[in-house]
Amino acid sequence: MANTPYPESYYAASANAAPSRPALQDDVETDVCVIGAGYTGLSSALFLLENGFRVTVLEAARVGFGASGRNGGQIVNSYSRDIDVIERSVGPKQAQLLGQMAFEGGRIIRERVAKYNIQCDLKDGGVFAALTPKQMGHLESQKRLWERFGHTQLELLDQRRIREVVGCEQYVGGMLDMSGGHIHPLNLALGEAAAVESLGGTIYEQSPAVRIERGANPVVHTPQGKVRAKFIIVAGNAYLGNLVPELAAKSMPCGTQVITTEPLGDELAKALLPQDYCVEDCNYLLDYYRLTSDKRLIFGGGVVYGARDPANIEAIIRPKMLKAFPQLKDVKIDYAWTGNFLLTLSRLPQVGRLGDNIYYSQGCSGHGVTYTHLAGKVLAEALRGQAERFDAFADLPHYPFPGGQLLRTPFAALGAWYYGLRDKFGM
Ligand SMILES: Cc1cc2nc3c(=O)[nH]c(=O)nc-3n(C[C@H](O)[C@H](O)[C@H](O)COP(=O)(O)OP(=O)(O)OC[C@H]3O[C@@H](n4cnc5c(N)ncnc54)[C@H](O)[C@@H]3O)c2cc1C
Repeated sequence: MANTPYPESYYAASANAAPSRPALQDDVETDVCVIGAGYTGLSSALFLLENGFRVTVLEAARVGFGASGRNGGQIVNSYSRDIDVIERSVGPKQAQLLGQMAFEGGRIIRERVAKYNIQCDLKDGGVFAALTPKQMGHLESQKRLWERFGHTQLELLDQRRIREVVGCEQYVGGMLDMSGGHIHPLNLALGEAAAVESLGGTIYEQSPAVRIERGANPVVHTPQGKVRAKFIIVAGNAYLGNLVPELAAKSMPCGTQVITTEPLGDELAKALLPQDYCVEDCNYLLDYYRLTSDKRLIFGGGVVYGARDPANIEAIIRPKMLKAFPQLKDVKIDYAWTGNFLLTLSRLPQVGRLGDNIYYSQGCSGHGVTYTHLAGKVLAEALRGQAERFDAFADLPHYPFPGGQLLRTPFAALGAWYYGLRDKFGM
């Protein structure tokens, strides 16, 4: 049977020690079978275990193998779409609920880290950096908007202030969110997996769900075993493939790439990011970066529609890094990798229920570190019969990508090219 290792990355190289878990080889029975051990699956499993459910997690490869173990590590609050856009689409009542939840994921991460003593280099403070006065105006209105939903911890940064927190000449201003921050993402996932097991949950690795037998008593099949469950949670996101065909039509896996420098040393690291905040710019095709605990710069950006793996990641990302930080021109890149996130047309998460007992959450389209933690809580609430917050997500409208399976990738790339041009010319 295939044994899929972690892809080579800085995170895999600096991961905390963790057991490799056995593949499922039996027939087992449980209350909830969770498919996928990324943040969505692990957060769901933890909330369910804390509420007395028996939980079995099936992971096709290793815990945190997908985006959760490869991402930029940025704790960015809210969704990949502004709340006022959501409000125009779904009305004030549903927007109110979604707006109130927009900063909950970051709180959940901090609670998890504290409660289960997870060693994942958690740091507070995230900056949204504006490259143009128009982007700065957008941040100002976003601050007002978030304050309407009770999120009052945000600070606008003028040009002088942003130079104090980011050693980069490009920005005209920004916004600081001290409830944002950053983590070592794979170590967060590994710590959450250990917490799942400490509460009696079981995780099988190298155990892809290959078929779901639907019905009143659903069964999930793996190559060598099966799980009979009362409920199933589908949390395979961009790595799910066609296991649940209804979900594949309205979402599209996309690749995004990250590089990691050699250790920069204290002085240079401090010159780039004196307070050790993480930063993302306000472009549609955005750049994001932060320091690691051993003072490397992790820099990500760019999107490959359709999730093809690019041949030379360093050639794509390094020029972006040097544009922000020309002083890094002689610095060596130690790691470069790619990972897939799941895009929806609205850029809002795809959440729902198939029949009575199959639940899913996927497709948060980029800003997933916080949302996926919230999703676990909301899914667990729904399984306990409290579905108001789940329904607020499940009622979001979703549409298939234009062009069907064949043409959706070039269509989406064309759209992104257009937005890329707008970014370039500051439109
Ligand atoms: C390179 C990169 C950088 C990013 N940076 C950031 C960032 O800085 N901040 C941020 O907020 N978001 C970021 N994101 C997005 C964020 O990482 C994701 O939204 C989030 O991790 C998704 O979590 P998930 O659990 O839903 O999916 P994943 O973490 O992808 O987990 C899905 C898991 O399901 C497993 N699986 C799939 N199919 C099956 C099956 N049939 N049976 C069993 N298991 C299965 C996979 O192996 C995988 O482990 C980034 C994403 C990428 C790729």
